[in-house]
Amino acid sequence: MATRHRRPNRGLARRTARKAAAPLYRLLHPRKPAFTCPICNYQGPFRDKRDRRHAKCPSCGALERTRLLFAVLSPLLESFSPERKRVLHIAPEAQLDEWLRGRFGHYVSGDLQRMDVNARVDIQHLPFPDATFDLVVASHVLEYPEDDRKAIAEVQRVLRADGIAALPVPLMHFRTRDLPARDATTRVMHEPGLDYFQRMEANFAQVHLHRSDEVNPAHQPFIHAPTDKTPPLLVHQPNVRLDVVPICLTKP
Ligand SMILES: [Zn+2]
Repeated sequence: MATRHRRPNRGLARRTARKAAAPLYRLLHPRKPAFTCPICNYQGPFRDKRDRRHAKCPSCGALERTRLLFAVLSPLLESFSPERKRVLHIAPEAQLDEWLRGRFGHYVSGDLQRMDVNARVDIQHLPFPDATFDLVVASHVLEYPEDDRKAIAEVQRVLRADGIAALPVPLMHFRTRDLPARDATTRVMHEPGLDYFQRMEANFAQVHLHRSDEVNPAHQPFIHAPTDKTPPLLVHQPNVRLDVVPICLTKP
């Protein structure tokens, strides 16, 4: 049975402070290009994050990948019939949490270590019966479990017959590298390449790949970082790379 925890208010206080400081960030950076966050509707420059330019919304904190995921998922969920109400959000992003809670009648957040979630879950052994959820969202999760193929099979198992899963991973290489031991710095077991989506195709009837250049560029869904080591298929412009959101469907 899943363990339940209280949600601490620390995250809420941090989010409130960040939102209050966003207009000041806009005022102090008049020369940076302006974007629109699709999640919180902030308009203005985005913060850089290490070597990634225009990465983070200063108001809600959403990163490039979270804005892309939101932009891909929103139209999909509009086509969901109202009786499809059950969502599992693994390693939940605070920016998507509120939106998914509002959209779905039954929201479960899960994580292996975090305390601010509904259920303690190991994605390799999900503590839910078959066909429980209409949607599973797990972004930048599959690179961590030792048996990522089992994790993907588990996500498929807990989905209903017409369920969908959004399972983005960080694309690092041309071909996926499975590491012999957990990387000491990044803690990952797998460094996904462009062939990684085949592991999803082995479990799902359909896998649709949605790319950064398919959504509104005003949301800044690209990764602005040096592209010298990026697989060529992901290079959008010099020093701008594409990201990909795989949407996996159980129904053929
Ligand atoms: Zn935002």
